[in-house]
Amino acid sequence: MQQALRRSSLVPSGFVVENAFYEADRAIFTVRASSGFGLCPSCGTVSRRVHSRYRRRVTDLPLSGRIVRLVVIARRFRCDAVLCGRQIFTERFPEGALAPWGRRTARLDCIVHHLGLALGGRPAASFAKRLMLPVSNDTLLRVVRRRIRPSKEPLRVVGIDDWAWRRNHRYASIICNLERRRIVMLLPDREPATAQAWFAAHPTIGIVARDRGGGYGEAAAKALPHAVQVADRWHLMENASRAFLDAVRKSMRQIRSAIGATSINPKLLTAAERLQYEGYLRREETNAAILALSKTGAPIKQIVRQTGHSRKLVRQVIRGERNDVFRTRESSLDAHLPWLDDQWASGCRNGAELWRRLAARGFRGSLRVVGEWAARRRRAERADAENLQRIPSARTIARLMTIGRDTLSKAETVTVAAIEAGIPALVEAREIIAEFHGMIRRKAVAELTPWIARARASLVASFGSGVAKDEAAVRAAITLPWSNGQTEGQITRLKLVRRQMYGRGNIDLLQARLIGAE
Ligand SMILES: [Zn+2]
Repeated sequence: MQQALRRSSLVPSGFVVENAFYEADRAIFTVRASSGFGLCPSCGTVSRRVHSRYRRRVTDLPLSGRIVRLVVIARRFRCDAVLCGRQIFTERFPEGALAPWGRRTARLDCIVHHLGLALGGRPAASFAKRLMLPVSNDTLLRVVRRRIRPSKEPLRVVGIDDWAWRRNHRYASIICNLERRRIVMLLPDREPATAQAWFAAHPTIGIVARDRGGGYGEAAAKALPHAVQVADRWHLMENASRAFLDAVRKSMRQIRSAIGATSINPKLLTAAERLQYEGYLRREETNAAILALSKTGAPIKQIVRQTGHSRKLVRQVIRGERNDVFRTRESSLDAHLPWLDDQWASGCRNGAELWRRLAARGFRGSLRVVGEWAARRRRAERADAENLQRIPSARTIARLMTIGRDTLSKAETVTVAAIEAGIPALVEAREIIAEFHGMIRRKAVAELTPWIARARASLVASFGSGVAKDEAAVRAAITLPWSNGQTEGQITRLKLVRRQMYGRGNIDLLQARLIGAE
């Protein structure tokens, strides 16, 4: 269905166009209200008695790439009501068309508001210019600020968290309505006193979700003693994982020796040495068997009988004299080994030089013997260095120890097995942390008290004590559905909006944009 384009359809409803023309890059419409009367704003009496007329200049939506200026011929009316204190009043236009002191029509103001919300001050102003909506940076920001309407609904469940206003420099707080999933307030700092004052002004709050540590819990306890506090589940899970990582860090020395003791890289060995290495492994077995018997208190005679080894060997093993990987071929070198070690440690690593110095001390053996010793020594050091490099970081170990066995590579499985065998306390700590995660996931609140007792006697004792100190809030985190997870999401959004503002503007403007956009 076609409809003729009338001039009055181009201006907000309620206005009639008297005159329209172009002037440079503008379209100018002279308009007046279509109604023949005015309503006194003081007493509501209808008046048709016009006192005078005046012109208001307002901007409207652009038309065909031109800025539109409305020249509104507004009337002043006389109020005839006897008891009304107001004798003359100015004409009011419909709320949805033009506000009493407005410089823009309501429909333009709405667009300006949304531009400001979406883009912030300066970027919105330059974009608005392209859209032929001449508004300044300041105007955009003012419109955004003016349009916040605080919710009248009483707050019941809130989440509070901090966020970096300037990284590592200044922090602010964010408070969200967890029921409505909305930002309620940005506080300019994260001081407990600031949060406490805000909480005190909102006594309807019954549940406060907050992270562990920090002063928010204390602030809420002081201002809202009746409110239930909920420790944030995500932070709890995260802190638990971190506690295990700390336990791994503290155990790194033991881990290094547990991994190092089992690893000789056979690739680094020559064919002859590999044979020796296999012999070494056999000897280790023999040693272990002899030591096990000796531990039970069996006398040497009995061990000799049971194992079939010589009395001399059994005695050597028990005295701990038989655990070197490579036995020196030449017993002639044995007497000089401590001296050679000293020389090596002081930096003399040349076989020929060592042999010359050794010969001066009365050594009768050949250069080859000393040269081989030096070569072996060098290779062993290189292998040690590689072993040190091969020991993964605490973070990697914590990850390897907590992910499923079936996802580990063969080498990783060997590493984890060596750690588990060497440091049982770490295995226990892992179990305790897994129990904690499980308890939160399964909402098994009854397990909390026994868990705390167990954790406090383990490698993750300080985490256990922290949970004990905050037990009521942790309990609430397990039983209640509320969590600060969505507050984290709001912080992400907040940072995005803030970046659009190019770090300019203050906290109330940021708040206006965030709350106004909802
Ligand atoms: Zn009146």
